[in-house]
Amino acid sequence: MDLGIKGKKAIVCAASKGLGKGCAIALARDGVDLTICARGDEALQATAAEIRKATNAKVTAIACDVTTEAGRKALLVACPNPDILINNAGGPPPGDFKNFSLEDWRKAVESNMISPIALIHATVYGMMDRGFGRILNITSYSVKAPIPSLELSNGARCGLTGAVAALARRTIAKNVTINALLPGPFDTDRLRGTSQKLAESKGVAFDTIHNERKKEVPAQRFGTAEEFGATAAFLCSAHAGYITGQNIVIDGGSYPGTT
Ligand code: NAP
Repeated sequence: MDLGIKGKKAIVCAASKGLGKGCAIALARDGVDLTICARGDEALQATAAEIRKATNAKVTAIACDVTTEAGRKALLVACPNPDILINNAGGPPPGDFKNFSLEDWRKAVESNMISPIALIHATVYGMMDRGFGRILNITSYSVKAPIPSLELSNGARCGLTGAVAALARRTIAKNVTINALLPGPFDTDRLRGTSQKLAESKGVAFDTIHNERKKEVPAQRFGTAEEFGATAAFLCSAHAGYITGQNIVIDGGSYPGTT
């Protein structure tokens, strides 16, 4: 299917690996010019080169921390008028409510709520003036089914969801949509990292935990960054102009059970 977005410009945040990279590749395949970022320059440049080679797309790679004002400014200088914005960043660490400091909460809210709001604020009005815009927030299925060990994530991501819910109903009349994709377990470094920590805390092998988690997913497998990216690209397409304010779970059937 031609997604009707050839020549559009996209900012894809946190895209050297995992879900962000999956989104970037999918958009590039449909002829979108990309501005991507991540903190680590080496992996970012390697991903940019990989996408250019695979798709011939124009890819600008900005090594920056998207949760800082300076990082977001660098992205917007590279791509001042994006047609598509995919908000993404690393998730807050797991832990227990009892042990989280206010600083931990401020950091989680800054990274996973304020940063995407800042980028939306900087771009959404230009999109409305131009009559096209697609904003997609990568959050988590914890927005619909809170995950016990991820209270920082549950809180910050629900905050973002609420913050843009009404805006998404105002922008749609100008062909600007705001949606969120809520990943369940996807086979990325992040998921492998949490399996590794669980394995260490229980004193068992990584494979034992990772396979147990896989079996808990009704699909009997983890999702792939490619299928996440394909869904994201559709939501950013010309065909998705009637979808806004939605929080779409993509989780192999896990919700409302959690893995
Ligand atoms: P991942 O495989 O660890 O990849 C994270 C990517 O984001 C990397 O490219 C990383 O590069 C970049 N990044 C992280 N923090 C950044 C920052 N502050 N500024 C710029 N780039 C940053 O993670 P993932 O699995 O794709 O997860 C993406 C998001 O989805 C996370 O918020 C995660 O919590 C959420 N999520 C994932 C799953 C899952 O199963 N995978 C499930 C639910 C929610 P650098 O480290 O070099 O910056």
